[in-house]
Amino acid sequence: MFYKNEVPYIINHIPLSSRRPGLSRQPKTLTVHSTGNPRSTAQNERAWLVNPRNIRVASWHVAVDEKEAVEAIPLNEVAWHAGDGRQGEGNAYSIAVEICESGDRAKTLDNAARVIAALLREQGLTMADVVQHFNWNKKNCPRILRAGKLWNEFLAAAGSYYEGEAQGALEAAVALLVKEEVVRSPDYWLENAKPGKLVRGEFAAVLIISTANRLRGGE
Ligand SMILES: [Zn+2]
Repeated sequence: MFYKNEVPYIINHIPLSSRRPGLSRQPKTLTVHSTGNPRSTAQNERAWLVNPRNIRVASWHVAVDEKEAVEAIPLNEVAWHAGDGRQGEGNAYSIAVEICESGDRAKTLDNAARVIAALLREQGLTMADVVQHFNWNKKNCPRILRAGKLWNEFLAAAGSYYEGEAQGALEAAVALLVKEEVVRSPDYWLENAKPGKLVRGEFAAVLIISTANRLRGGE
């Protein structure tokens, strides 16, 4: 079982079809949707994509519910979710995350925030790259997050997971370098090696030289 920020993450791609044209691209943004169905789970949404009764071409990459996330289309492929045309920036270059409207809403939103933070990191994207479906074609979507402060609260939650992931990765890396005797002042790096902070050139030089020496297998 895979996890993204502790949320079970199931990869179950649909076959190539009108909904999954198999067009490769590098994602530039991540689009948040909600399913518009108060009863369906992520697995229900995945099943609908291959249900013969479904005559719509619409598709998405990842659906998240109160329990888990399901990836139906690889993130580096086009999905039809933005309603902005075949060449539209939304369809062509955005990752579609569908938030389910069923079940425990708070748990679902927390799961979605966790998964989105992890996907952004993996794709080299930032919180500034997260948009609503509304952004592409003025559809009222994600309808469960567009009222009042809900959208900003959701972004704040995702942002805190996004930063937490970065800090966790830094802590793990610094711990390894301490063990390997490359870094001797871990507190300095944990405090200063992050966005918005500065590290001293002479310390960076020591780190680079120690790392090179370690790679050479020397002192
Ligand atoms: Zn939508």
